[in-house]
Amino acid sequence: MITAVLHPCSSASLSLPNRPPLRYAILGAGFAGISVAWHLLKESPKELRLSVDVYDEVGIGGGASGVSGGLLHPYSPKGKLLWHGAECWRECLELLNVAETAASSSYQSTENRDFSESFGNFMVRRRGILRPATNAKTLDLMSDNARNCLASCVVETIDKDGAQNLVPNLYLPLNCAFYFPGAMNVNPHRYLQALFLACQSSAKTSLGRKNITLVNKSITDVLELEGGYDAVVICLGSKVDFLPGLTGKLPLRTCRGVITHMQLHESARGSYPDDGPSILSDAWLAVQGPRNLHMGSTWEWQSRNYSSDVPAEEASRALNELLPKASAVYPDIEKWEFAGARAGLRAMPPVTSHGSLPLLGCVNQLIGAGQFCNFWVFSGLGSRGLLYHAWLGKLMSKAVLSCNEELLPSELTSWKKNRQ
Ligand SMILES: Cc1cc2nc3c(=O)[nH]c(=O)nc-3n(C[C@H](O)[C@H](O)[C@H](O)COP(=O)(O)OP(=O)(O)OC[C@H]3O[C@@H](n4cnc5c(N)ncnc54)[C@H](O)[C@@H]3O)c2cc1C
Repeated sequence: MITAVLHPCSSASLSLPNRPPLRYAILGAGFAGISVAWHLLKESPKELRLSVDVYDEVGIGGGASGVSGGLLHPYSPKGKLLWHGAECWRECLELLNVAETAASSSYQSTENRDFSESFGNFMVRRRGILRPATNAKTLDLMSDNARNCLASCVVETIDKDGAQNLVPNLYLPLNCAFYFPGAMNVNPHRYLQALFLACQSSAKTSLGRKNITLVNKSITDVLELEGGYDAVVICLGSKVDFLPGLTGKLPLRTCRGVITHMQLHESARGSYPDDGPSILSDAWLAVQGPRNLHMGSTWEWQSRNYSSDVPAEEASRALNELLPKASAVYPDIEKWEFAGARAGLRAMPPVTSHGSLPLLGCVNQLIGAGQFCNFWVFSGLGSRGLLYHAWLGKLMSKAVLSCNEELLPSELTSWKKNRQ
């Protein structure tokens, strides 16, 4: 129980010599939650004692993050740089490095060898992403946008020959494609496991000042945590709406997406080039290897089905919907075989003049909490959770550590004003 009479963020409280460690709870171990955990450990002063509990009812990557396609680039479907795309991109690259370093150090340490074996496959596949132009009406706009791309993630306009050099037999209806050579796809499970490992290593090197624990537990009422923590950060993705106290209070819509796993039989010719990019079109292909790829995704709005399992009938519907879209640009996909499907529920925020932006902010008033524990929400990452999680996780951790919502950009907290 917190017994301090001073507010946890007051400088007098923080400087008390025998002050118990600050205690933070993070609900949800997806992109949002693990990013906040990492940044709380990194952004807090070295000498500050701090303990972080990450709660997840399934485990790391148990929600939409774990099933996501893992495609990562900072552009809209029309190739426009997204809101604060430069910062988001930079911070993502930083977190990917942190995770890769943690995974490789863990591999070198024999005590972790068993765990590290799970990193046998790729964590980050840096082969770029190709978007064939399919709509004559938006071609000029996309070409203009490509000229205003980030220097750190360029967009090249290429023709049929250029595209077929990258992916043989690719079909370009308008003889034009946009190529993002710096874009990548991430294996979300491996990435999140490694980022959590990085959190543990960071705590280990803090001489006992920092601590992080993963708690396998379902939270049904956030206010139950009020006495035990200085702050609670709610990173439950679309399930934030299932929490009593927050149901119906966030402007979120849910949208279920199914991804199919496709394989090319060993005996079949025409495997995907090892250095070939992933493809974005009306359906996307997230390439895992020469005979392995993920094809996505469907959009079932207002679904409340949170299960990652996909029954045969739903998988067959998804395949029928996705195959024609994918084969319109990559006809060879018809030779690949269905090898399974999984699904996730996106938390979709409203569209604003800046695009669809995640929802962040302090929600004490909204849920009727007292003043000694701050409750924060970080949700609505929509279909771009990977891009947003790193930078916004950093901003959220700074706001939590200083109990100051004003450190969050007003575009992300304005949903609260719109409720009044
Ligand atoms: C099919 C599909 C494909 C996608 N592809 C991409 C892509 O290619 N690129 C991209 O950037 N984004 C993609 N996205 C979007 C991305 O997956 C999401 O934006 C992101 O995962 C949201 O992360 P989150 O941490 O907010 O939520 P989640 O990942 O859903 O995490 C919430 C966590 O909370 C836990 N939890 C829920 N309720 C409770 C409770 N009561 N108690 C304890 N724990 C609980 C869950 O187990 C889960 O681990 C895709 C989404 C889908 C559905």
